[in-house]
Amino acid sequence: MAIQLLPEDLVARIAAGEVVERPSSVVKEMIENAIDAGARDIRVECVEGGRRLIRIADDGSGIRAEEAALAFAHHATSKLRSVDDLSRIVTLGFRGEALASIASVSQVTCATRHIDEETGALVRIDNGKIMTHERIGRPPGTTMTVEHLFAKVPARLKFLKSVQTERGHIDGIVTRYAMAYPHIRFTLTHDGRQSFQSLGNGNLRDVLLEVYGAPAVEKMIAVGDAAGADADQARDAATSIRVRGYAALPEYDHANRSKITLFVNGRPVQDAKLAYAVIQAYHTLLMTGRYPVAVIVVDVPPEDVDVNVHPAKAEVRFREAEAVFSAVQRAVRQALLAALPVPQPPSVFVDRRVELNVSPPAAGASPTASRSPAQSPLSGAETWERVGIARNAGPLAAPTADAAPSSSIPQPIQNRQLPALRILGQLAATYIIAEGPEGLYLIDQHAAHERILYERMLAARELGQTASQQLLDPVPVDVPADSARLLEAELEMLQGLGFHIDPFGGNTFLVRAVPAVMVQDDIAAALREIIADLEIGDAPLRRDLEARVLRRVCKRMAIKAGRVLTYPEMAALVRDLESCELPRTCPHGRPTMIQIGVSQLEREFGRIV
Ligand code: ADP
Ligand code: MG
Repeated sequence: MAIQLLPEDLVARIAAGEVVERPSSVVKEMIENAIDAGARDIRVECVEGGRRLIRIADDGSGIRAEEAALAFAHHATSKLRSVDDLSRIVTLGFRGEALASIASVSQVTCATRHIDEETGALVRIDNGKIMTHERIGRPPGTTMTVEHLFAKVPARLKFLKSVQTERGHIDGIVTRYAMAYPHIRFTLTHDGRQSFQSLGNGNLRDVLLEVYGAPAVEKMIAVGDAAGADADQARDAATSIRVRGYAALPEYDHANRSKITLFVNGRPVQDAKLAYAVIQAYHTLLMTGRYPVAVIVVDVPPEDVDVNVHPAKAEVRFREAEAVFSAVQRAVRQALLAALPVPQPPSVFVDRRVELNVSPPAAGASPTASRSPAQSPLSGAETWERVGIARNAGPLAAPTADAAPSSSIPQPIQNRQLPALRILGQLAATYIIAEGPEGLYLIDQHAAHERILYERMLAARELGQTASQQLLDPVPVDVPADSARLLEAELEMLQGLGFHIDPFGGNTFLVRAVPAVMVQDDIAAALREIIADLEIGDAPLRRDLEARVLRRVCKRMAIKAGRVLTYPEMAALVRDLESCELPRTCPHGRPTMIQIGVSQLEREFGRIV
């Protein structure tokens, strides 16, 4: 399409605002233009963190000689024609604003040649004024050079940070586009020295190796399509949402969310809710306060996402936000659960004493009882081998030199399930002491019980079999006026969890039934805590809100620290924990147990050095 000025009515509908904030914004806009032009090789050169010079050379389609100056006019674009086009944008650019904005605050030299033309063009613009427009010879493609950014705009110049900081922003932009476009070769140099290069071979894992290094990538597993998963799993049939990428194993976590990298339809986006969906996928796998490391690429049909909400196009709005979030959460969760090994309990450690002394729990007998003692123990080596296969599965995970078996020494990954444990006693009326195949286990009775209750309640909820108990005397509870409105809006959700609560006029509510585990609880106090949880108001998914209420119920009802337990009580608790899906953390992400290996004890006692 030819470059044209956008009509007024269309200009009015485009998210307006400043796009050139710092050198990295220039790099971003120029890279997007190169990608839109079909480039396969994009070279970015910076001097002094981009303040003195930024040069971006691409091998894309180029600009027609007679349009080369027009490209620098405000609202001049070849990518958008009508208001209709706005609802399904397939290019990264569409506003026709970037070149004009950049050229108004710097000296720009554009050398370009369109693939269909014999000669190219050279345009020079000095802070908004066209100085040169002439014909030149050069290969097809475009080279944009931006010098002395903001030199004539002191107000903006003073907001720039150190060369080091600006470099960091540029690195972030280049590496992100390299991850989003693995089939394009990106090269970045700072002050004449190459600092990054991607291969451009289409393999995301290879890009990650360049960005994060081999030790980190070793800890990352393929998600969605990248995992070679069934097309049905990765692609949500109803909404055609596609999720792929890489997610780090829980052991390789990070102190904040900055290592969750997200792309939507080829755009790096900052989306708190989408990031939260990734965090949720690690639910109970990470300690509270720790965050996952992941690169997640989401593709949705262009008409299902609005990219015209932010001038720098860093935010998007989904038509079916919930569906996108749960697709992301599901894909990441699935990949994680598949990668964490599930060893069978070695039969030699099944403890006879536990079996003899403990009468099975009355209702819903623990599945541990049905374990076959004849099952052969799975050796450690076999377990690691299985992890290795899971981690290297999928077409994007071609083996690389760094992933070769010689260098991949098995890393201890937390086993998902527990072996059978032999109870030795209780410590400080708080911890259960037990012995297992890997040595000594100290189990936090409260955290363990929380985990057990939580998984039971979640399972019942999934099956729509939440056990609810009518109260003999309904309990009236007064709540503050704002909370009353909030509670009223959530009564249905709470009903699904076993609470039957009716508005009783004013700000009073009548609690008629509660989840069965709660009958003994102080109902009014419990309801106030639940309202406080609802008021946090940062959970974007309905299911997360439900889970939060369930966690509250479990926390209240779990055995407290400080309670002396009988031997059968401890044994029953540990057995129930053994049958949990994720026995090693409580629903809030804290560990339920500490494990001290025999070899560690031997070291501590100086038996081995
Ligand atoms: P937009 O990308 O929103 O269209 P820009 O101001 O970034 O607006 O670019 C204006 C126009 O200049 C583009 O629509 C495109 O036609 C042309 N252009 C800019 N950079 C390049 C490039 N590297 N290769 C080919 N064409 C380009
Ligand atoms: Mg553009």
